[in-house]
Amino acid sequence: MAIPPEVTALHQEKAQIGSTDYGTTASGEAALVFTLTNTNGMTAEITNYGGTIISLTAPDSEGKFENIVLGYETLVDYEVGTSYLGALIGRFGNRIAGGSFDLDGETYTLPVNDGPNHLHGGDRGFDKVVWEAEPFITDDGPGLCLKYTSADGEEGYPGTLTVKVCYTLTNDNELRIDYKAVTDKATPVNLTSHGYFNLSGNPGQDILGHHLSIAADSFTPVDSNLIPTGELCPVDDSPFDFRFIRPVGEGVNADNEQITFAGGYDHNWVFDQHADGQMGHMATLSDPESGRVLEVHSTEPGMQFYTGNFLGAAVGDKGVIHENKHGLCLETQHFPDSPNQSSFPSTILRPGEVYSTQTVYSFFTA
Ligand code: BGC
Repeated sequence: MAIPPEVTALHQEKAQIGSTDYGTTASGEAALVFTLTNTNGMTAEITNYGGTIISLTAPDSEGKFENIVLGYETLVDYEVGTSYLGALIGRFGNRIAGGSFDLDGETYTLPVNDGPNHLHGGDRGFDKVVWEAEPFITDDGPGLCLKYTSADGEEGYPGTLTVKVCYTLTNDNELRIDYKAVTDKATPVNLTSHGYFNLSGNPGQDILGHHLSIAADSFTPVDSNLIPTGELCPVDDSPFDFRFIRPVGEGVNADNEQITFAGGYDHNWVFDQHADGQMGHMATLSDPESGRVLEVHSTEPGMQFYTGNFLGAAVGDKGVIHENKHGLCLETQHFPDSPNQSSFPSTILRPGEVYSTQTVYSFFTA
């Protein structure tokens, strides 16, 4: 979508929110796009279809605002798209092995939509539904709360799950995401945001020259179907060591079994220090050319760093082709396949409990 020139101006007097029609889904539901503008002129376009971030602008070191996430052009593109561009992911982010898990003595079967496994909530995950939308403005900045009630049995999961996700585009140039959910039966829940960042502002260019640091000593290695083996593997002396900032391209094609399984990075890093639900620093991403820097903080114990290995050659916004590795995801989450891995932090939400996590993406220049 084109960003109107008036919202790309360097300074806005006030934070603003506008909304426009985004058409009707194949199942006949009307979708909207909300444009959030903070006092510095940063914008986020978010549709209530899939809770999807369509665009997010941030200034480079010369003050030039450009879109720094991959997006498609139309609602139909999002409906047929298979890469989860910018979407909210649920009921369970990442894979559940064999599309099955046991809980409280019952076996639950979920649709398999990624080889033999269940991925990102199934055939019609939270990325493919229309959410109820409520915009707001506070002193922090403009925001949008999205609500969705996932029926008992939807995509095979037990319990009616009521989910509320609030985006705030703060006047400090942060995109804050607050996730909350309650259930009436025990169910696995793992919500995340699937934005593909490309800080260059040019989605036609790859992200291999971006620099990244990840504040984690270990990651969860996977088998050839990208299901965690259950181990926590130290990152020492491997392409997975991002404790000091390094170019993404340095290890992305390394001669390493884990990299080969995924065709690049597509792994979950482990953050022990967040075990108590405190907000912690996870990652810093920078693009030396534009000077844009992104910092990720979250309450979550894990983060999937995915280099867009399966993007294919999709046609994105303004006809730009997104090839593999033209965007990278930093998905804050609980660990993949947790419902089948008793040693991982639990993802089971029970009646009476409140699922509550927060992730903040902060933007600045260096
Ligand atoms: C997963 C990838 C998957 C991709 C789909 C990522 O979160 O880790 O394995 O292919 O989502 O776009």
